[in-house]
Amino acid sequence: MTKPLIAGNWKMHMTVGEAVACARHLRELFPEPIDREIVIAPPFTALWPVSQALTDSPIGLGAQNVSDEPKGAFTGEVSAGMLADAGCRYVIVGHSERRRLFGEEDAWINRKLIAVLKAGLAPILCVGETLAQREAGDAFPVIEGQINAGLKNLEAGDIARCVVAYEPVWAIGTGRTATPAQAEEAHAFIRSRIRGLFGETQSADLRILYGGSVTPDNIDRLMESIEINGVLVGGASLNIESFSRIIRYSKG
Ligand code: PEP
Repeated sequence: MTKPLIAGNWKMHMTVGEAVACARHLRELFPEPIDREIVIAPPFTALWPVSQALTDSPIGLGAQNVSDEPKGAFTGEVSAGMLADAGCRYVIVGHSERRRLFGEEDAWINRKLIAVLKAGLAPILCVGETLAQREAGDAFPVIEGQINAGLKNLEAGDIARCVVAYEPVWAIGTGRTATPAQAEEAHAFIRSRIRGLFGETQSADLRILYGGSVTPDNIDRLMESIEINGVLVGGASLNIESFSRIIRYSKG
């Protein structure tokens, strides 16, 4: 299994100056490669300056969104090739805020994910159920639908570059984290679906991140599960002290 991945999603926060200062601070704290991979996903405007600030650093850069088109008359859009050119290695696709607030549906997310792979980047596909869906007993069918549609038309070889993030919508930005048992159950389910779609090796190697109100206080317990291969962190990644504590998680 590749290293656990700890990714910070900075959402629509930070000016260029603030993002560069945070990136510099983080690289001072983690100057050398360690046994876990660190990625930050600042807003588009800060990608290039942050990539400059991270030159020769083991910390990777990610984008929060991408166009499904390679180029053309698509005002306001940013292509995967542009993100690669700006220094990105990862792209978050299908975040629940994009699904919910911007109408991104599965087929569109699948086209974005394929565009990311074509540009040589690694997609982080977000999936997860709402509270109403969980309470109705539909969490797993919802996740299964998002996995099947999001990863449609991929070859087994493509999956090696993908990361999946299980982010229950009810846990994002709410302070309400899934229990380690809930996360583990969902991750095991996702892995079994990947096994069914792409085979044993691909499913065993796939990194499945948990996301939803991860903090310095709950990270150690979450990472105890062998099913949890890292975390996608929103709010707590905006503060480098708390994000670095999350990166330094220790199991049990
Ligand atoms: C996220 O935005 O992906 C996320 C998990 O946010 P938070 O950690 O703030 O819940």
